[in-house]
Amino acid sequence: MNHICLIEDEQKVAAFICKGLEEHGYKVKTAGDGVSAQIFLKQEQFDLLILDVMLPDTNGIELCRQIRQTDANTPILMLTALNQVHDKVLGLKAGADDYLVKPFHFSELLARIEALLRRNKSNEGNHQMVFDDLKLDTWSKTAERDGRQITLTAKEYTLLELFMQNPNKILSREYIAEKVWEIDFDTGTNFIDVYVNYLRKKIEKDFKSKLIHTVIGMGYILKQANK
Ligand code: CA
Repeated sequence: MNHICLIEDEQKVAAFICKGLEEHGYKVKTAGDGVSAQIFLKQEQFDLLILDVMLPDTNGIELCRQIRQTDANTPILMLTALNQVHDKVLGLKAGADDYLVKPFHFSELLARIEALLRRNKSNEGNHQMVFDDLKLDTWSKTAERDGRQITLTAKEYTLLELFMQNPNKILSREYIAEKVWEIDFDTGTNFIDVYVNYLRKKIEKDFKSKLIHTVIGMGYILKQANK
């Protein structure tokens, strides 16, 4: 199930979007201002963000720029009003992937969302993911670090790809279980920790620094050791 964060302060518009998306099988979390949006984005992982330009405490374009500093991958769809056409350009420059002018038909919003999610999944022909000295090839499903090839099992590869898609972001065990194993996480088992440790051995043991760090009580994060 795709998880969407909707950042929109107008309650009527938010309720309309939320209801429609939920009817189409999406899980939606709504933030009414920039501060709560930032909190949600730190706590949870989303597959797509819908971001309104006019927010009570910040500007959606500025918020988009801030989000892009730590998250380069999650698709962002901006909502702009008809008289703010210049916002479209600014929004795209700030890292948004698409925009929609209010008022819009729900079917158009849905089509844009589906297109963005599809595009993000296919990775748009860019099949190299890079983090620090670690490289992942999403076509051949191989990894290398510091120029040395690393052999991964299918699950280890999927797990590493998930970390590479979400650099500098805490991933909860629940989220990892859902994305890599497509199951609900059972807190009685430690298989996520077991797999993370397998992966760590392969990508860290013979190399200069740690990349996957444990965040006690929360999960795991891919980040450079000195940051
Ligand atoms: Ca607004």
